[in-house]
Amino acid sequence: MNKQRGAWILVLIALIVSAGLLFIDSQSSQGLLNSFDTGEPETIKPPAAIVKEEPVSKTELESIEPAALEKETVVTQAVGIPEPEPVPVPAADPFLVVIDPGHQAKANLDQEPIGPGAAETKYKVTGGTTGIVTKKPEYVLNLEAAELLKSALEARDMKVILTRTTNDVDMSNSERAAVANDNEADLFVRLHADGSENPATSGFSVLIPAKENSYTSAIFADSELAANHVIQAVSADIPLHQTGIFYRDDMSGFNWSKVPVILPEIGFMTNVEEDQKLSDPAYLTNVMNLLADGIVQYANNN
Ligand SMILES: [Zn+2]
Repeated sequence: MNKQRGAWILVLIALIVSAGLLFIDSQSSQGLLNSFDTGEPETIKPPAAIVKEEPVSKTELESIEPAALEKETVVTQAVGIPEPEPVPVPAADPFLVVIDPGHQAKANLDQEPIGPGAAETKYKVTGGTTGIVTKKPEYVLNLEAAELLKSALEARDMKVILTRTTNDVDMSNSERAAVANDNEADLFVRLHADGSENPATSGFSVLIPAKENSYTSAIFADSELAANHVIQAVSADIPLHQTGIFYRDDMSGFNWSKVPVILPEIGFMTNVEEDQKLSDPAYLTNVMNLLADGIVQYANNN
């Protein structure tokens, strides 16, 4: 009896276990158990009938994320960040030179601060020198040179603004620097001619802000670089005055400038030979073309 009962119990247990196994197997076929275990629908081993759907659902999952990101971007834009516009190509942005033809018909000997916030003052604008032979005032030569330099730079695809186009103006040196600052010039060129008590003194030079000058520390390096390029270009054909570059901390036209600045002294009007050459259009055009070449080289290396 006991053996028979034991055998029946074993058969019952076997039936219950195999029924249980069948149930588990059917659940796992539908992916219910596996998805509980891993949480990853991709790991489901589905029956052959749904195999085809698997890649579709994977693809859908992957494609959801970028779409969701785009939606976030759209929301952010709606909050007020401007839609990105095509970035302008820097090369298409022309190099801007502001040229100041130094001096004017009538000097203005009122005072102005030598720099922003300075207690020390200087004349607003002085009269300049005069041709020893030509008797030409410096302000006339400076404007002639400025117009030639403007043409030379425009022929080299640069943009040019003159601080004055007539001699009959009243502009202080700080006001001239403000033209360069307000237009955010890439380079401010103050055109002048030199004068000396020694009639033998001659040659081209460039004045730039001194290194140790709190007003111009931000523009010193670029100003010096521009001067070096100009001296290199001009000295190929024109004699220099001494080493060619002079550092000055006493000029309000430098101290008020927030953009790189050079002051070419294109020659000595107090030297007989140079005064006559500077009034020769061919000579002056050549000097301005060389100066323009130096400015182009500065623009290309900055
Ligand atoms: Zn001058």
